[in-house]
Amino acid sequence: MIGTSVRRRERPAENSGRTSKGGMVPNSSQNSTINQQINTEFYSAYLYLNFSNYFEEVGLDGFANWYKIQAQEERDHAMLFYQYLQNENQKVTFEAIDKPDLNAACHMDVLKAGLEHEKYVTSLINDIYSEAYEAKDFRTMQFLDCFVKEQGEEETNAKNLISKIELFGSDPKSLYMLNQELAARVYGNGLRLVLQNLSKHILVFETPEAARKKLGKKKPMLWVVTEALTKQPDQPWRADKRTPVILLSNQPESEITIEKNTGKVIILPVPVLPETLRNAVKTYLLIK
Ligand code: MG
Repeated sequence: MIGTSVRRRERPAENSGRTSKGGMVPNSSQNSTINQQINTEFYSAYLYLNFSNYFEEVGLDGFANWYKIQAQEERDHAMLFYQYLQNENQKVTFEAIDKPDLNAACHMDVLKAGLEHEKYVTSLINDIYSEAYEAKDFRTMQFLDCFVKEQGEEETNAKNLISKIELFGSDPKSLYMLNQELAARVYGNGLRLVLQNLSKHILVFETPEAARKKLGKKKPMLWVVTEALTKQPDQPWRADKRTPVILLSNQPESEITIEKNTGKVIILPVPVLPETLRNAVKTYLLIK
């Protein structure tokens, strides 16, 4: 059995958070639950890194890779909550991160603990959401929207892994194939999948040359560019005067000039949640 050992949260005291002028400030108990969520997300990263460690030890490097990337994505979630509180000028306090306990009798124990943990995280996100709802804190609700969807996806991923092991786990050959499949997960690949799932007309290019070769003189309806690409010379999206650009940037506060697309540039700070990217793309492409 595995203990996920995340501290259960105390229910915060009621606090309306209304200022004397009638405006709303984030309620202090809400601040503390969002603050705790930073810790929970870092704990999730630590937990999944421990899962990765388990699979590394039993020689299933694909499973180990899958959980290592999961850990990176959890760290991204922690950073998004942290950033949110900073943007709201709220005080952030870091607490100790619990030890991730793991006593797995079989691979399935690890996967099941993963699903249980995600269900628990879903309940925490729901708690923060209801507090925000009660306090009429619409900005926090909007911020949380993508996490609500994200948790649905996390639970589905965890369930899918369990079904695959149920189906194929007892056959060494199939387990080997499954391990190979999970070895292919790449950090950041989630965003590529988001784009490709939105529309079959969205093309993904690794290099400016590949884009130029495929598009020729044709102009797309939208460019989505990563910051790494902005540094490469001779880029087709820079020469394109009219098409809007979504730029995924690690340093959104730094000056990035995209002269030819004035007014048509959205800069999304990385890490970015799949849902945020999905919404930004939909704004331009009118996809339902
Ligand atoms: Mg998370």
